[in-house]
Amino acid sequence: MDYRNDLAWAKAQDDADPLKGFRDRFLIPPHEGHDSLYFCGNSLGLQPRSVRDAIASELNYWGELAVEGHFRGKLPWLSYHEYVRDNLAEVVGALPSEVVAMNTLGVNLHLMMVSFYRPTPERHAILIEAGAFPTDRYAVESQIRFHGFDPATSLIELEADEPNGSISMAAIERAIGEHGAKLALVMLPGVQYRTGQSFDLAAITRLGHAQGAVVGFDLAHSVGNTVLNLHDAGADFAIWCSYKYLNGGPGAVAGVFVHERHATADLPRFAGWWGHDKATRFQMGPHFQATPGAEGWQLSNPPILSLAPLRMSLDIFHEAGMSRLVEKSRKLTGYLEWLIQADLADVLEVVTPADPTRRGSQLSIRVKSGRDAGRSLFQYLMDNGVIGDWREPDVIRMAPVALYNRFADCIGFAGHVRAWATR
Ligand SMILES: *Cc1c(COP(=O)(O)O)cnc(C)c1O
Repeated sequence: MDYRNDLAWAKAQDDADPLKGFRDRFLIPPHEGHDSLYFCGNSLGLQPRSVRDAIASELNYWGELAVEGHFRGKLPWLSYHEYVRDNLAEVVGALPSEVVAMNTLGVNLHLMMVSFYRPTPERHAILIEAGAFPTDRYAVESQIRFHGFDPATSLIELEADEPNGSISMAAIERAIGEHGAKLALVMLPGVQYRTGQSFDLAAITRLGHAQGAVVGFDLAHSVGNTVLNLHDAGADFAIWCSYKYLNGGPGAVAGVFVHERHATADLPRFAGWWGHDKATRFQMGPHFQATPGAEGWQLSNPPILSLAPLRMSLDIFHEAGMSRLVEKSRKLTGYLEWLIQADLADVLEVVTPADPTRRGSQLSIRVKSGRDAGRSLFQYLMDNGVIGDWREPDVIRMAPVALYNRFADCIGFAGHVRAWATR
């Protein structure tokens, strides 16, 4: 795209944007009487306006129908997780039977590892990226110990081999090849939270499977802003949270993907009544019989009040469509990057890969003059209503989100950075 550093040009792009109407479906946090420049949808997505009524409606059913709300009302609670299933499958490129909304990310990661991390004395290692998100590292390390193995020998952390901390496909291939015989599980992110690098899920899955390893992905930072063809990529499982790009609200109900090939497999699992075969669940028998597909991993009846926002948000995703969202996201993210390179290269450097196919909506940015200056800029931006987030040791993350960010927001960011640099 032929970008220009010009507010009138940016506004013209926003006017011509086929997705521009979606911004009005969200509550944009105010700053001193104006909309803030919200670039933090990678951390907490904004609230769809439709959410309040959706929750109020369930509260009304609770008040009016009480226990009968499980069977009556517009959306009986008994099947509530099913109301988000199809749209969730669409967002991650899966069959509806391969996904389920349940629990939170950390819980789901453990549940998936109960089934898919089955170490043996010969094959016991887990491969993750160095500098993984803490919960992911804690989870895999504690699972290794739980099975009586030692993280010193069973946890392999793939070091970055590119200048800004990203990892080349060649390095992934080398590591999987080198450790192949002892690899039980390859567990990588869709988009790495600190660098913003996205990974080729299909290629990683092929490499892992070729060595006899199980392959799972943490999609916390990729769901809702990258095209994920999970079914075709062939991953064994994936997990994600729903409060980031999916706009499901603070602590939202998370998601799980289990590939169809495991739909009826006799895998060890931690079972609960909601994972039991739907046809006989309420016969309340003593023997667990898993319902086929991802729903068979459910433990509990779904939390209606926290699924309601996700349902509304996924309706928006369905309407907008992932391919249109990703197309816009690439333009917007490309614009933010271009503004930095064209106008702020003396102040900032971008850590995230420049290749649009190797990133999502997030740019990880460093201030060239160091960490203290980075903290100062971050604080300045926040004080001026430019909302991003800070990740230790020295990264400012900015995520232009296709559903509600504008080209004009990117210009606003650049103007504030320049004002800070010349203050
Ligand atoms: C956001 C995020 C989490 C958060 O886990 P919760 O269980 O939702 O608190 C975990 N891992 C990664 C990679 C994340 O980006």
